[in-house]
Amino acid sequence: KKITIAIDGFSSTGKSTLAKQLASHLGYVYVDTGAMYRAVTYYAMEKGYITTDSFNKEELIADLPKIQLQFKFNEALGFAEMYLNGNNVEKIIRTLEVSRLVSKVAAVSEVRAKLVEQQKQMGADKGIVMDGRDIGTVVFPDAELKLYMIASAETRAKRRYDELLQKGENVEFEDVLQNVKERDSIDSSRADSPLVKADDAIEIDNSDMTITEQFEKVVQLAHK
Ligand code: C5P
Repeated sequence: KKITIAIDGFSSTGKSTLAKQLASHLGYVYVDTGAMYRAVTYYAMEKGYITTDSFNKEELIADLPKIQLQFKFNEALGFAEMYLNGNNVEKIIRTLEVSRLVSKVAAVSEVRAKLVEQQKQMGADKGIVMDGRDIGTVVFPDAELKLYMIASAETRAKRRYDELLQKGENVEFEDVLQNVKERDSIDSSRADSPLVKADDAIEIDNSDMTITEQFEKVVQLAHK
């Protein structure tokens, strides 16, 4: 019987790595909700609605009906890529520039309402692994399996730093660490759907776990 798997946690806790592995192992659909918030942020940046020192929320809110988000599966990559109004934005939404602003955009209730509704629709059929910050609490409160991933800020910043370097981005570790901490703080203190562990979520601290160890542990949980 197919189930719904909700994975939440702070940034760079390894949610997407685990979610992708699980989805491919179980033959489920994987949805990265962070990509959706990132795509809306990129839209707002392109329009000049948000910069490092200004944010015109009203203009972004007025434009929401014009923002079309779509995931398209890429066979070669083995996962779905994010499309914004028909354009592939998968790469650009992962830059530190977008990471720096995304939590501000994600704190806007109207943005959340639009994305949460789309996410609920995507989960109408079971057999989905969705990761984010509010999946077990808001999007799928009835998910059969909820995971809450944690790891120290340093461990997480190191992972994200290595990832960005690998992609050829020129970044400083200190900046990445600062961004991770800043997003932690905004994500857990915002008024609308702050990041909290769902009561029935299973906490997984992977600071000292390999990716394989973590996967094996979770596959057991999924089959229970
Ligand atoms: O998962 P990722 O780090 O790519 O998410 C980027 C940002 O999007 C998070 O820091 C958070 O501010 C926001 N987000 C959210 N709710 C989700 C997924 C992401 O608020 N379900």
